[in-house]
Amino acid sequence: QDARLEGPIGLIQQALFIFSWFLIIMSLLYRDTGASNTYLFMVQARGIMLKENVKTIGHMIRLYTNKNATLNGTDYPEGNNSSDNLAQTVMYLPENFTYSPSQPCPEKLPYMRGFIDVNMSEIGLDEIQKIFSKDLDIEPGGHWRPKDCKPRWKVAILIPFRNRHEHLPIFFRHLIPVLQNQRLEFAFYVVEQTGTQPFNRAMLFNIGFKEAMKDGDWDCVIFHDVDHLPENDRNYYGCGEMPRHFAAKLDKYMYILPYNEFFGGVSGLTIEQFKKINGFPNAFWGWGGEDDDLWNRVHYVGYNVSRPEGELGKYKSIPHHHRGEVQFLGRYKLLRYSRERQYIDGLNNLLYTPTVLVSKLYTNVTVNLMPELAPVQDY
Ligand code: BGC
Repeated sequence: QDARLEGPIGLIQQALFIFSWFLIIMSLLYRDTGASNTYLFMVQARGIMLKENVKTIGHMIRLYTNKNATLNGTDYPEGNNSSDNLAQTVMYLPENFTYSPSQPCPEKLPYMRGFIDVNMSEIGLDEIQKIFSKDLDIEPGGHWRPKDCKPRWKVAILIPFRNRHEHLPIFFRHLIPVLQNQRLEFAFYVVEQTGTQPFNRAMLFNIGFKEAMKDGDWDCVIFHDVDHLPENDRNYYGCGEMPRHFAAKLDKYMYILPYNEFFGGVSGLTIEQFKKINGFPNAFWGWGGEDDDLWNRVHYVGYNVSRPEGELGKYKSIPHHHRGEVQFLGRYKLLRYSRERQYIDGLNNLLYTPTVLVSKLYTNVTVNLMPELAPVQDY
């Protein structure tokens, strides 16, 4: 006979069966933060896309039925964030443009062609170093400067790092030519966390910033995840009047900004801007929230965040397993006190002892992170 018909024992068995599945699913979602966030976001994104399609169809019907309307590149459905969607109208310089070593490099160069191939095939670090060793202009630490014009920005690229050795060479292979084509001066700082504490992306950035400042005369810092690769080389890696969020459209989020305050993946600030906001918070141990806190910090001092327009901000992410990363569940509570914590936790309360090693393509800064390295007074 069917076990389900056997009275209360059967019911209890069924309930236990359902509950254990619930526990398994919950624990998977908790361990694999990327998967759970991506899933939740996909559900939201589908809704947004559906809404946008309905709006666009409505707009097209209005355009065709209104005799006075003109259909041009700047006509977009109402309610969209306009600057984000405008077609790119800026002119890029012609191929035969001649530079002068004494003049600033233009921002829109002919080498910047738009969409580029994103090669994610694995390659060894040795091999990639060998390839770039032919470029005699790359100095130790991956330091490069253009010779044919004066770089508009001297950019320190900071990469927080743990256990992602296969990503580094893919990252350099992709990014170095992009930055050279953009005629920026640049070098890479890989800030590696050792020890057993949860990953602290923000604290690694603060340390990378301090180390880069000791090392070079940088005027712009870019905070870059190692697995994010820009798809468009017109996404210019210089800083500006306002802090910049470069990674506006991620493939993993179906190229939609997950929420207006999203500031993750790749962002950049001038030295002055970063000092003014007292850097990143140090108190976010584990995945998530530190980028939201940075967003709060920049807004509290009166900045806005700029983003590349349209298609320029597209990124692909290198697929990977979240190896034992844990979500920082305390992030929502900390975020409620962003303002109170801004000037007691950041660049100004950091104590650390790094090991610094300069290699061909980057400077490696290794630190064992612990909460004691960023003591916070009560607030
Ligand atoms: C986290 C952020 C993260 C964003 C997108 C938020 O819940 O707090 O740190 O960047 O999700 O994944």
